[in-house]
Amino acid sequence: MAYICKNNMVYQSENRICQNCKKDFIIEPDDFGFYEKMSVPPPTFCPDCRLQRRLAWRNERGLHHRECDLCKKKIISIYNEDYKNTVYCEKCWWSDKWDAEDYAIDIDFSKTFLSQLFELFYKVPAPNLFSIGMTMINSQYCNMANDMKNCYLLHDGTFDENVSYGSGVFYTKDSQDITMVRKCELCYEIVTCINCYKTFFSQNCEDSVEVYFSYGLRGCNDCFGCVNLHKKSYHIFNESYSKEEYEKKLKSFELDSHKNITLLKEKVRDFWKKFPKKYYFGVQNTNVTGDYLEYSKNSKACFGAANLEDSRFCSFVSNGPVKSTYDFTHYGDNVELINECLQSGNGIYNIKYSWGIWSNSNNVSYSIRVVVGSDVFGCVGIKKKQYCILNKQYTKEEYEELVPKIIKHMNDMPYIDSKGSVYKYGEFFPTELSPFGYNETTAQEYFFLKQNQVKENGYNWREHDKRNYKITKNSEEAPDSITEIDDSILDEVIACEHKGTCEENCMTAFRILPEDLKFYRRMNLPLSRLCPNCRHYQRLKKRNPLKLWHRRCMCNKKNHLHGDKNCEIEFETSYAPDSPEIVYCEKCYQQEVY
Ligand SMILES: [Zn+2]
Ligand SMILES: [Zn+2]
Ligand SMILES: [Zn+2]
Ligand SMILES: [Zn+2]
Ligand SMILES: [Zn+2]
Repeated sequence: MAYICKNNMVYQSENRICQNCKKDFIIEPDDFGFYEKMSVPPPTFCPDCRLQRRLAWRNERGLHHRECDLCKKKIISIYNEDYKNTVYCEKCWWSDKWDAEDYAIDIDFSKTFLSQLFELFYKVPAPNLFSIGMTMINSQYCNMANDMKNCYLLHDGTFDENVSYGSGVFYTKDSQDITMVRKCELCYEIVTCINCYKTFFSQNCEDSVEVYFSYGLRGCNDCFGCVNLHKKSYHIFNESYSKEEYEKKLKSFELDSHKNITLLKEKVRDFWKKFPKKYYFGVQNTNVTGDYLEYSKNSKACFGAANLEDSRFCSFVSNGPVKSTYDFTHYGDNVELINECLQSGNGIYNIKYSWGIWSNSNNVSYSIRVVVGSDVFGCVGIKKKQYCILNKQYTKEEYEELVPKIIKHMNDMPYIDSKGSVYKYGEFFPTELSPFGYNETTAQEYFFLKQNQVKENGYNWREHDKRNYKITKNSEEAPDSITEIDDSILDEVIACEHKGTCEENCMTAFRILPEDLKFYRRMNLPLSRLCPNCRHYQRLKKRNPLKLWHRRCMCNKKNHLHGDKNCEIEFETSYAPDSPEIVYCEKCYQQEVY
């Protein structure tokens, strides 16, 4: 298929070589159409490298203690004290005690535009976190969040209550240690589940109640160690039991014991592998490729997103609608015509190469933290402004004359990073300019690099903040069963089982909080022996990468429509060709759901 553009030029698919990884990538005819509509050049980085570059600006979990540079209050911040610029507590940042225009600079055509933008970036005060503080009750250790009550170390979430240790959690209550979860209650150690109640150690389950160690259940209740069941109850390892037998058997597993839970985890891991997996996880989508998608249509290569339309390369869109948008990561809420942006949303329109654009902003390019801005180019921290460049106010006429000149200047004198990649107009910010250590950003979770690789790439690496706590207990010394644990555990500083030897930002030690203990006791589950970061990484490992491979259905069942022949349906899947999973197309999978 070809795309015919305004001046009747016909676009065909084109192979390009990524500036960053030097691998081939394809720009499709439709993509050229989108770039034409946005009046931007096609990208020079491949989709993977573009995603990695955006995620390198998202520090979700690296929280530090510091002071507000205005009111001097002690605060938690994503910026460490040695970070070069001014950081305000949220209250000060949103107040009118300061004005971003005071930091305005005149464009200087003898320097690269991006170097001037980042000169400005380091001068303008930054808010301590990316959360909407006035909507957060007793949840000050949560980042990238709003509308939370009594939550702790829960990042990237909204409308949650009494939830600790999680990420990507929405409309969820009374749960712990969960990742990518919506509308769940009383759950523990679950990954990518929707609308579940009392569900434990499970993955990809929907509308289920009282489920343990299960995968891919829909509308089930009282199931243990089950896979691919639909509307079933009282099943153990996919076999049916009477209610009485089931209850007896469930008791015999003695889930209060850490030893038993560890053994069961290993057992179900092997059991799950025997069953086919659907090539992607999604709910009510039409014509989409990607994974973890809900209510989306005509969208390609998107991951962890809801309510997308005509969009590509989008990830972690917590709320739609998101329309005609490319390369958009976090978070959504009514956005349209966005290209290469991060952490933006809430009624925004026509935004390019920006980070943190909010509240009905429109026509914004190369900007950071803009609230209700329109016709804004290269600004930082401005609120309710129009016709601004590098935080300086211009008239409409001046603005319209200056912007094309700056774009030309960006092409004539581009920023060149330490690896030699060229940043003309049409690129997101260079990773080497990110204020965060690469290892404390979400990029590290999906595009892991060792310390020497980070340095070779010219990115920042952040050593852990000095820890002055004293470990008082090794995790293996804790009693095996929750029933044997008394309140004195709350006074202990417990060493993480990984002892900092893993590559998972191990905190080396952690405390059990009174709320945690109450939860473990209520659920009759043993204490975790890993620190919150290591727990987070264990859950992430259960997810597939944010990447697609073109593969064929692996089904050879004789009783299916394809009969004696193997199924020949092909699809895009996030299961890598060398993954041990059996991967089926939708039709074959549906026939294997019991
Ligand atoms: Zn690349
Ligand atoms: Zn303050
Ligand atoms: Zn750890
Ligand atoms: Zn098939
Ligand atoms: Zn089949």
